[in-house]
Amino acid sequence: MSVRSCFLALATMAACLGLGACESGRLAEGGPLPKPPGADAAPPPAASGTASARYVSFSSSGDAAFDAWRSDFASRASQAGRRTETVRSVLDGLIPVEAAVQTQSFDNQAEFVKPIWEYARSALSPSRIANGRARLSALDTVFAAIESAYAPPREILAAIWGMESSYGGFIGTDDAPRVLASQAAIGRRKDFNEGELLAIMQLIEQGAASRDQFARASWAGALGQTQFMPSSLLQYGRDFDGDGRIDIWSTPGDALASAANYLSAFGWRRGQPWAVEIRIPDGFDYSLGDGRRLPVSAWTSRGLLPVAESGLAGSEALEAELFLPAGSYGPAFLLFENFRTIKRYNNADSYALAIGLLADQLAGRPQLSRPWPVNIRMLTREEARDLQQGLNALGYNAGAVDGVIGRGTRGALQRFQKDRALTADGFPTPDMLGRVKDASRDS
Ligand code: CA
Repeated sequence: MSVRSCFLALATMAACLGLGACESGRLAEGGPLPKPPGADAAPPPAASGTASARYVSFSSSGDAAFDAWRSDFASRASQAGRRTETVRSVLDGLIPVEAAVQTQSFDNQAEFVKPIWEYARSALSPSRIANGRARLSALDTVFAAIESAYAPPREILAAIWGMESSYGGFIGTDDAPRVLASQAAIGRRKDFNEGELLAIMQLIEQGAASRDQFARASWAGALGQTQFMPSSLLQYGRDFDGDGRIDIWSTPGDALASAANYLSAFGWRRGQPWAVEIRIPDGFDYSLGDGRRLPVSAWTSRGLLPVAESGLAGSEALEAELFLPAGSYGPAFLLFENFRTIKRYNNADSYALAIGLLADQLAGRPQLSRPWPVNIRMLTREEARDLQQGLNALGYNAGAVDGVIGRGTRGALQRFQKDRALTADGFPTPDMLGRVKDASRDS
């Protein structure tokens, strides 16, 4: 499980990149509502701390289906060992988010139709770079201590911090129990969302965090300065300053150590790069950029060379994947294992690329040598579906016809291009769409 669930995280990122966009939160009515007078007096609080199931009563939300789910879940939470007062503090007073609003949030997957570099470019705003460098300098001793205890370097942690919350500047105003409960109640990823609610209850019972803190979450329920889902906080959260709380909301050390611990647990390899920008020689077979992993020496013997002369020093023995986010039209990279570890934080190439590039800038490394092809028109969602449909009709197996250009679509396009002696870069231009359409009509 990534720190945040993929869909939720992607939509959150899309909203948060525009900073301030988050503040208008589509679920901005969030937060536990005041209890009706007398609501507390109605049910006699049951004795706590036993593992037997208890009936926990709640004030009505006004939504019968939500109330029914809540009663059922509360008794299961109680059965699982959660204390009655914890169950009540997390679930009472919640008014479910309207289903239509939830659907809207899920459908807003803006970065799927944006080119990958647009995401990276907006991540690398001058203010985010300047603020990140300032934080690295101000928190030098904190970063040094975290680096000695965990594998990832400080610039990667700072980049995640900057992307997730603008270095703690924005951590969300939605009530995590409310958004998680609303989704569970309508049956959307019920087990996942119920698991997150149980994690919140455990964190409260452990004294790691308080109920109030969970009212400061993203619309998807991600928490604090490094935007952990509650179950990730429970499993990987760290109390860096030793005050007994895992306060990723207002203690940068706790937030950064938790992120470092998470990345370490998912295999961050100390001292290895996330990626190295490389130059591609004329006549290179781009179809090798299909996700295969080869030793660095196998790439260099095919003519790939690092842009920075010493870029691959120390990495010769590693395996790497050729990554062509803009096909043959923009920067190319050799990706290392740490790129995949960044994706454990958020499972999108666009996210990992943005984190890596921002980290490079925070560390003062050179800018990319090639510009992104900002003048190429990207396919619309509808055109992307046409491309997938055409490739599938021709037997190239682009996978689901969903309008999302992922690795499956790019690989299918590469095979199509290779069969026609075209540059097999898998990059979906309008011209390529035309060729695929023509070929599938003729077939
Ligand atoms: Ca702490």
